[in-house]
Amino acid sequence: MNAADEALNDQPTHSPGGSGRLFSMNTPALSEIPGVALPDGARVPALGLGTWKMGEHAKRAAQEAEALAVGLDLGMTLIDTAEMYGDGGAEEVVAKAIAKRRESVFVVSKVYPHNAGRKSAIAACERSLRRLATDRLDLYLLHWRGRVPLAETVDAFERLRAAGKIVRWGVSNFDVGDMQELFALPEGRRCATNQVLYHLAERGIEWALLPWLRERRIPVMAYSPLGQGGLLRKPKLVAIARKLGATPAQVALGWLLRDTDVIAIPESGDPEHIRANRGAPSVKLPAAALREIDAAFPPPKKPTPLAML
Ligand code: NAP
Repeated sequence: MNAADEALNDQPTHSPGGSGRLFSMNTPALSEIPGVALPDGARVPALGLGTWKMGEHAKRAAQEAEALAVGLDLGMTLIDTAEMYGDGGAEEVVAKAIAKRRESVFVVSKVYPHNAGRKSAIAACERSLRRLATDRLDLYLLHWRGRVPLAETVDAFERLRAAGKIVRWGVSNFDVGDMQELFALPEGRRCATNQVLYHLAERGIEWALLPWLRERRIPVMAYSPLGQGGLLRKPKLVAIARKLGATPAQVALGWLLRDTDVIAIPESGDPEHIRANRGAPSVKLPAAALREIDAAFPPPKKPTPLAML
């Protein structure tokens, strides 16, 4: 385990202590953000921050970085970004947000499939590192499968890992068949996570992919956990949230966090939304509420191919 992992394990921001100043103002009873164990033993907060759509307009960059900083202050110390987002602009926004606290943030970025070759992945990672103004990524993901053979990508990831430019690697948008192919490769089992579309209205992974990953103790990173905002307007979710005295976003996130191996990465550029999202671990979902949620947003009843955006 390296210094960053130790910092993540020890950091007070995993408990409300790290952000006590903010909590004590008007949010007295926030629960800790649960930790999720990665296969190498590092622990990351189950609630992080997404960055898609950030870094697209220079004028908004400072404001977006400030929004991320609010989330970091509140203990959401995992940031998900990608070379794709804002054409590198999102990574530059992240650089601003983490500049004075790199050691306490778990930085995830992703490589485009067309940049995932034996040499090109290394060059892409170095560009990401420059934009992020850091010397290493805590986690580097293949954004989705493309034409480059997986063996080449894994080889590049392993070389990046050996060089200390990434601490670990994983994949995104991989269905069971893709995971099986990956695991057939000599170093394929080093995969730390699979980042996939997962939220109340997209539960297809519960049929086969989630159990497959669970058997191998690979946590899932749930992207678009708020259904890109559209989920929050669904009347059934609004009604369930009202009964629970929570917001729809808190219920949607709290539901994902009911398991100990799911990491949710909601995106928001609005500090008020981020503060509200941070309340998700405090939402109690008793069995009756979970039954109501299952009735409104049923789990899959048959094999379902992986949905992706
Ligand atoms: P999301 O997190 O499900 O939803 C984001 C939207 O929800 C934004 O429009 C945001 O608007 C709104 N929102 C957030 N909190 C809210 C709240 N409390 N109340 C009301 N609205 C709220 O969607 P996403 O950005 O697609 O997914 C999250 C992250 O996952 C991305 O940013 C990215 O890092 C990652 N991702 C990965 C992939 C992949 O292929 N690997 C694909 C998609 C996404 P405001 O700014 O107004 O709050």
